[in-house]
Formats: sequence, structure tokens, C-alpha cells
Amino acid sequence: MKTNIDLNRRSFLKAAGALGTAGVVAAALPGCGEKAAEENADFAQEALGEVPTEGMQYRHFDNLEGVNASLLGYGCMRWPWRTNEQGENTELDQEEINALVDYAIAHGVNYFDTAPKYLKGLSEEATGIALARYPRESFYLATKLSNYHKDDSLQEGKDMLMRSLKRLQTSYVDFLLCHSISNSEGFIKRFIDNGLLDWLCEQRTKGVIRHLGFSFHGDEEAWKLLMEYHEKVHWDFVQIQMNYVDWEYPSEESMTSKRLYEDLAARNIPVVIMEPLLGGRLSNVPDFLAQQLRAQRPTQSVASWAFRFCGSFPQILTVLSGMTYMDHLQDNLRTYNSFEALTEEEFKLLDEVAKVYSGYPIVPCTDCKYCMPCPYGLDIPGIFAHYNKCVNAGNVVSSKADEGYAKARRAFLVGYERAVPSVRQADHCITCGLCMTKCPQKINIPKRMRDIDAYVEKLKQGLEL
Ligand code: SF4
Ligand code: SF4
Repeated sequence: MKTNIDLNRRSFLKAAGALGTAGVVAAALPGCGEKAAEENADFAQEALGEVPTEGMQYRHFDNLEGVNASLLGYGCMRWPWRTNEQGENTELDQEEINALVDYAIAHGVNYFDTAPKYLKGLSEEATGIALARYPRESFYLATKLSNYHKDDSLQEGKDMLMRSLKRLQTSYVDFLLCHSISNSEGFIKRFIDNGLLDWLCEQRTKGVIRHLGFSFHGDEEAWKLLMEYHEKVHWDFVQIQMNYVDWEYPSEESMTSKRLYEDLAARNIPVVIMEPLLGGRLSNVPDFLAQQLRAQRPTQSVASWAFRFCGSFPQILTVLSGMTYMDHLQDNLRTYNSFEALTEEEFKLLDEVAKVYSGYPIVPCTDCKYCMPCPYGLDIPGIFAHYNKCVNAGNVVSSKADEGYAKARRAFLVGYERAVPSVRQADHCITCGLCMTKCPQKINIPKRMRDIDAYVEKLKQGLEL
């Protein structure tokens, strides 16, 4: 397998080396453009062949008695919305959600993961409605004790689980997670000091919770504590962010997926993967990287590489994907209903892609929306999505002298107005910092907003960048 990634990487690093220090760094990316980026995004729709109805791989672990989970799991945090004439989300599109669930189940998916927090609190109910049309024992349901709660009392924890059961129209959940543990202090306050974790263990004994685990977005200290707690409570499974970039090159000082996975594998704890596509970003990598992947497997999408990476590890129970559209679901089914683990050479290729990609000045936003709403009305993920799209397309430049400055300037500014209403743009950030503690990716949101705003102002005024 031959690649020319090193050459392109050198080109990129040379460009990146000339960047300013403002944080909104810029790069002249080789071979990129709006059209190429759109082609990346659309490729899945053109993938060849029928969607196989059979062939899903199922994973079983001795400590998860009776569980035979599909390798592709449905992440229910990105269900489709109905919109009004102004393009604003009004309510979840239950009809479409039912159709997605029907198609997924007909093609072998049996694991569904939701949370009280998802989709402004609407995901559990919509998921419950869709799944209530099937025998309860025919699927696995995961939900969470979210961090977004009234207070840290035991009663609030109990009430949250009871509300989830009601919305999900069930008397038990197969998988219950302590949601998004980010630091030891928060974990102790929320789950230990008030006796909530003990109560959850009791519910597990009673069968209300079939399997107990946690999802993690935290630091080293919190991870060590959680691993110590395995001796006391026995985590049945753990959900981590894992993909071929975070495997060794995570952003913003996060722990590597490799370290998390290996710690869990050493304890024989089954692993559920979240963010296999980094919030969709790995389906739309810069074009010269996408070309390296397509050169190897021309009829498969760029996203399929990320999913094959995740499915190639034996300790994985299921890989969650938040599939909003039928195209996403079908593309993932093509991958998992005729699953081929990565070869050693393909692992090496993805490592090279990851190294290059991690050097891009992209904001590591996964569009989870945990930071929303911003009290000052900013569309935080929308601003980052536009910025990242422009980085991928080569429309973030470092200097007025850059080739293509005029075109890039126009694409950035015109696209910004279209993507984010002016009252929701970065210049409205007052750096209050309220969003910071909510971001599992540990993005310094106010700083990024200041940097993006400064970049936009310079573009508008035609100043040197
Ligand atoms: S720091 Fe900025 S983006 Fe974050 S909540 Fe405050 S105003 Fe909104
Ligand atoms: S900024 Fe952070 S919290 Fe907000 S959507 Fe992006 S990843 Fe999620």
C-alpha cells in the first residue's frame, strides 16, 4: 500500500509554520476546495451496491449475560427535527425516527443509546415511542444519569432514572451509565457522597438496571479513581470516545483512546464507543486525505474507514453512531453487515492520516450541543462547524498575500452569514465562560470565539491577518 501523505503533510506543516499566534490559525491546504469538501460529504450517497440485510456482527462477553449486541449501535442524540418556514427546529420528526428505527432493526441493529439530556430532553421519549412497537426483549436500551440535573441529592438521582423509564416506556434498562464523568470531584459529589452509586447497584441486583457503567470525558485523576471503583462496584461496561484520531492524537489535552481502551481490555471490561466519527468530522476530512483512503477502497466512503477502525478491536461491544439521515444509516450498514477488520497496513495508513489531520487547526467540536443554550444566543456548534468547514476547504488563510485570499475571504464571510444568523455569531460572546464547564471536549470556547471574531473582523475590513 503506497501513500503520498508524508509529502502532503510536509506541505501542510510548512504552511502551518507560517501561521500567526492568534489561535485562529490558518493554512493553505493542498488540493482543497468547497467542491472537494462537498464531494466528501456526498460520497456516502454514491456508495455502490445494495445495503446487505444480513451479516451484522454481534458481540458477546461472558460478564454481560444474555447480551448479543450488534456491532453497530444507534446513538439517539441526533434524531431528525421538523423545521418551520424560518428553518428553526420545532419538534422531533417522529415519523422519520420510526422509519429509521424500523430500517435499523430490519438490518440487524439491536442496541439503542439515549440520555435525558439529548435533543433538549426529547430523545428518550421519541426513542421510547419508536421502540415500543417492538417486543421489549428484541433490543437493548441504554440511557444515562445525566450531569444536567437539579441538584446532587439522592432523590434527584432516583427521580431521574424513574423519569427515564417512564419516557422509554419500559420497566428496566439494559445499560445504565453515569453520564460523562469529567473529574473526580464531580463524580464523588454526584454519585458517591449521596449514596447514589450504592442505590444504582441495588437497582442492578433487582434487575431494574441490567448492566451498570459510565461514560467518560475526563482527566487522568478521574480515570484512575473510576478504575479503582471497578474493584468495589464492578463496572459491567464503559463508554469512551474512540476513533482513529483520538487513538493517539487527541486534542485539548484529553487522554488517548488507546490508553483508555487498553486499561479496559486489561480488566476485561466491554467497551462501548462514542464519537467514532468525531461528530461527523471524520466523514469529511480534507480532500487530499480522503483521496488516500479512496485510492485503497474506491467504492467505500471515507466514513467507513473510521467505523472499520472501531470495529476491529475485540473488546468493543458496540460502536455508536448518531445517524440522522437514512443515507448515514445505510452507509454504516454497508460497513457492518459485511464487516472486514482493518489489515495491519490499513491501520498504518489510518495512523498517517490521523497524524496529519491532528495537525489541522480545527476546533475539536463534536456538535454534542452540551454547551447550549448560550445565554447570549450564540450558536456555538454552528460557528465552529462553519469554521471547520472552511479549514477543510482551504478557506481559512494566513495572510492577504496567500494565493486564493480573495476567494477564501468571500467563501468564509458569505458562508458565515448563511450558516449562522448575525445575532448568533461570535461577536456576541461576552466571554462569561458559562459554556466552558459543559464542554466534554474541553474546548476553551470563549477564547475560540474571540479568535474567530477577530479573524472575521480582519476579513471584513480587509486588514492583514
Ligand atoms: S462564553 Fe460566550 S459562548 Fe460561552 S456562554 Fe458565555 S457568551 Fe455564550
Ligand atoms: S463546543 Fe463542546 S459542548 Fe459545545 S457542541 Fe462543541 S463539543 Fe459539544
